[in-house]
Amino acid sequence: MKILVTGGAGYIGSHTVVELAEAGYEPVIVDNFVNSQESVLAGLRAILGRDVPCYRVDCIDRAALRGVFEKEPGIGAVIHFAAFKAVGESVRKPLAYFENNTGSLLTLLEVMREFGVENLVFSSSCTVYGIPDALPVTELTPTKPASSPYGRTKQMCEDIIHDTAAAPDAHLRGILLRYFNPIGAHASARLGELPLGVPNNLVPFITQTAAGLRDKLTIFGSDYATPDGTNVRDYIHVGDLAQAHIAAVRRLLERTAPEAVETFNVGTGHGNTVLEVVHAFEQASGLKLNYVIGPRRAGDVPAIYADAIKAAQVLGFTTKTSLLDSLASAWQWQLTLADG
Ligand code: UDP
Repeated sequence: MKILVTGGAGYIGSHTVVELAEAGYEPVIVDNFVNSQESVLAGLRAILGRDVPCYRVDCIDRAALRGVFEKEPGIGAVIHFAAFKAVGESVRKPLAYFENNTGSLLTLLEVMREFGVENLVFSSSCTVYGIPDALPVTELTPTKPASSPYGRTKQMCEDIIHDTAAAPDAHLRGILLRYFNPIGAHASARLGELPLGVPNNLVPFITQTAAGLRDKLTIFGSDYATPDGTNVRDYIHVGDLAQAHIAAVRRLLERTAPEAVETFNVGTGHGNTVLEVVHAFEQASGLKLNYVIGPRRAGDVPAIYADAIKAAQVLGFTTKTSLLDSLASAWQWQLTLADG
């Protein structure tokens, strides 16, 4: 069974391609490589021992996307990762985010309908919850106004999928996966996160600081109402997160879902503070990390972590990798990158 993976050369996409192939599916990658690198394909080859078909196509380009569906008959489901994902950049370039993130989904949905492909797994984000009133957040926790255009595109894409599936003649079935904070790398250290320039995210910033590429980590605020004053997040190993997509694809193909579109949180169900992550990294790497406490970062949610019960009960999905092991894998990946 072929599974089309848009953004399949990206961080989460590439790990999902590995898990799909190892679960017996035939992944087919579509990626425009604006925020991913060709070297990922070599990493996939090293892990899987074969090439994964890959099309250098922008999902917004309808003719090119149609071409992929024509060349790859028998696609059973699409996992749609392809999107811009930097919160700060989305504030500076909102139109680019709306055009790219919603535009690529619209084109994809039209082409899927034309080719009779009915199953879609969509990459959503816990950012749709905004600043939640209560923790942990369940799938029934009301969404709040997003704090960035990026977050708003995820909310809009969720709505687009719901409305499309609800149309009278629609055959679309969707699973919306709301990711918490993915971290870490493949156990082989052949795949991992490849941030361009200065990383925005905590863990690549930590590993680059430990590797001497950055002078120090600045922790964004220590005066929040959390156990040690720093932000709380739910950090999930990227390989575990990839597994959630396999469970979602299975569920779509089995056609057992009572609703056309289902939503799942994908997190560990545990929150950790920034300082806890720093100390766990020090333990995992055996290094001391140079860090300072700085001011709060605009737009940061004080604390959020997942209620992971629905994913466990309905998808049979639970995480397996500890925070310590996740950070150890991120460090191994950083060391591999340093080796060139
Ligand atoms: N963070 C930090 N210093 C950094 C990067 C991130 O203190 O250089 C904190 C950030 O304030 C947040 C957490 O680490 O509380 C995770 O941030 P990240 O950008 O990785 O993910 P987000 O939760 O914002 O999507």
